[in-house]
Amino acid sequence: MNYQSVLERIAEDVAPQVGHGTPAEYIPALASVDPHRFGMAIADVDGNVYGVGDWRQPFSTQSITKVFTLALALAHGGDDLWERVGREPSGNPFNSLVQLEYESGIPRNPFINAGALVVTDRLLTLTGDASRELLEFLRQECGNDRPSFDTEVAESESAAGSRNAALAHFMASYGNIANPVPTLLDHYFWQCSIEMSCADLALAARFLARHGLRADDSRLLSRSEAKQINAVMLTCGTYDAAGEFAYRVGLPGKSGVGGGIVAVVPGRCTLCVWSPGLDEQGNSVAGVAALDRFTTLTGLSVF
Ligand code: GLN
Repeated sequence: MNYQSVLERIAEDVAPQVGHGTPAEYIPALASVDPHRFGMAIADVDGNVYGVGDWRQPFSTQSITKVFTLALALAHGGDDLWERVGREPSGNPFNSLVQLEYESGIPRNPFINAGALVVTDRLLTLTGDASRELLEFLRQECGNDRPSFDTEVAESESAAGSRNAALAHFMASYGNIANPVPTLLDHYFWQCSIEMSCADLALAARFLARHGLRADDSRLLSRSEAKQINAVMLTCGTYDAAGEFAYRVGLPGKSGVGGGIVAVVPGRCTLCVWSPGLDEQGNSVAGVAALDRFTTLTGLSVF
């Protein structure tokens, strides 16, 4: 497979869609990002990386980090996390509150904000410093120190964070948050603020294509746990558009409102695409189109 020429073809094909959609407006620091950016990278299981466009440009990873905190919480603490968070698609926006009350403070899945807050809370209890643990893991997996916290984004999210605060307090009222809510929110906002390039994100996510093995060949997750995370990405990773994403792309994927999406071809490679214009569900318009082109051109999907 000549990944480089596939990427160049994809960039050409999706060019008309780059700039469509709008950057996330509810986080002021993200609203000003140029929607005309586009980058895409592929890392194969041996660690070779290919890229096109803005593939080396750091961007705000946002909810893509939810995959990595889930992996770390499972690696440190095992299966009891699943007593506090479900594994079903929510069918609702990523920051919705509605299901939490009638489902007794147990979020539907780890990739909506409520679920991710529970996962970060668990990682905080297990490690004492969830956001630092996450940053160190990302740096180790991509083999450099470029992943970093973006103070402006973290402060902007915190200042505009009433909804996430509401989610956390509401779950705390059901006993589903162990740490003080302000401490948890701090870790969550720092986690979302991490900036990385497509190249580094594709490298860092390789444990999902390598059935749980880290970059140094040590084991992070069992083969079965890696399968489980990929499955939850497929069914819940793009929120209330997960059905459409599975239909068009046919790969486990996780998006973020910074405009990035990470996708996994188990056993083969990981992909990361970035373009800041979002659709109504908060997924990158050109990013979904590019992944759709990838699986169509290569036939590499899980189906
Ligand atoms: N930091 C964002 C939030 O909490 C993450 C959401 C996302 O990327 N979908 O609202």
